[in-house]
Amino acid sequence: MPTPPPLAGGAHGPGALRPLLGTVLDALRQGAQDRGGPLPRGGPAAVADRLRHAVGDLLPTHGTGAETALRTLVRALAAGAADPAEPLCAAHLHCPPLALATAADLAASALNPSLDSWDQAPAASALEALLTTTLATEVHGRGDALITTGGTESNHLALLLAREHAAARHQTPHIITGANAHHSLHRAAWLLGLPRPHTLPTPAGVLDPTTVADTLTRLTSDAPGHILVTATAGTTDAGLIDPLPALADICHTHGARLHVDAAYGAGLLFSTTRRHQLAGLDRADSTTLDLHKLGWQPAAAGVFTVRDPADLHHLDHRADYLNADDDTEAGLPDLLGRSLRTTRRPDALKIAVTLTALGRTGLGTLVDRVCDRAHDLARQITTHPRFELYAPPTISTVLFRPRTAYDHHIAHARRRLLTDGTAVLGRAQLDGRRWLKATLLNPHTTPDDLATLLKLVEGTASP
Ligand SMILES: *Cc1c(COP(=O)(O)O)cnc(C)c1O
Repeated sequence: MPTPPPLAGGAHGPGALRPLLGTVLDALRQGAQDRGGPLPRGGPAAVADRLRHAVGDLLPTHGTGAETALRTLVRALAAGAADPAEPLCAAHLHCPPLALATAADLAASALNPSLDSWDQAPAASALEALLTTTLATEVHGRGDALITTGGTESNHLALLLAREHAAARHQTPHIITGANAHHSLHRAAWLLGLPRPHTLPTPAGVLDPTTVADTLTRLTSDAPGHILVTATAGTTDAGLIDPLPALADICHTHGARLHVDAAYGAGLLFSTTRRHQLAGLDRADSTTLDLHKLGWQPAAAGVFTVRDPADLHHLDHRADYLNADDDTEAGLPDLLGRSLRTTRRPDALKIAVTLTALGRTGLGTLVDRVCDRAHDLARQITTHPRFELYAPPTISTVLFRPRTAYDHHIAHARRRLLTDGTAVLGRAQLDGRRWLKATLLNPHTTPDDLATLLKLVEGTASP
């Protein structure tokens, strides 16, 4: 029998990892050079063909060995990546991860703690507890938080808590949300067997407090029950922020709970000049934050916060092998209720490393940079004779369109840039029209990069 391949952990792990990391880093560099732009040329079929050709047999009888497999697959993946570290890759809330966060994530993989029981993650669970307290305090001045896979899971938890709050009071749950809310809320309602959310129109892009108040008044008289209002701080399409202080007041008056989906906007908390945009967030009963957006973490780095730690008791769950009553009584922390998952990566590590390394000021500066770039882009668009701006940016999303183009030309222009491999822009349908969307999350992007982006669009979008 040959010796089994080396492991990542233990005292010998680093020695085994070092040469492999050299291979990985070389392959990443070569792949980025092969690609030579924000995404691979040629569109889906060409990319899949090149990948199949590079990779060959994925389950050969006899393996190629670590070096060859890493060199080939990592290079192929990098060559075919839409790389958010490229300034012209700016479609989605898809951030370029910081090198330091990615390095921390390597340690998480090497040690592989699993956060479902203390005996698999002694220090990792203690670090996670410190981090969740820190983040909840940052948002609410108190409270508790869970680490999630992202906004989708956090919103799911918010609706699950609403269902359980209602059930505990033998009430019907009602969810009130805006047409501007993230699609994951609707899917969560479906998944949890909740009634369809009352979806209020948002003609101005954000929830109108008067409409929310009227709906609350009508619901409390027609169909009394437990009501959760969900608001958004940083809409996915336009980066708009619902009027949080007014919504918090209204929810308070009507005895409704408030969840704020700040998956995108939460990063503003770190900026001294922009934190005021999130006034009222602290009054939410729960919030969604995604540090794999304005937090520069490799996915996943989701956070779900609650103002009242007792709300999380709805998630308590027992499995004898993970949190037997006598183990818990003897002082082993009970982790199973801190997620709906069982095996769980220590995503807290990379987040904790980033917060510690950069501090509030460092993170705030990154947030300010991308928001400032969005204003630069907006200025370039408004002074450009051929482009129209949707609205001045609220966070770092800029929506624009060529003045003379039809909607189908705009969709075509976007796909043309994707196929050419020259730029990755998103699309949004707002005010009955189609817009190109640039979501700026790269703190290294320069105003010149943005001028290049507009030139590229100008070259393809002409009818
Ligand atoms: C990104 C986003 C989500 C979904 O988050 P994932 O991390 O992709 O699951 C939810 N809500 C808003 C407002 C978002 O921007």
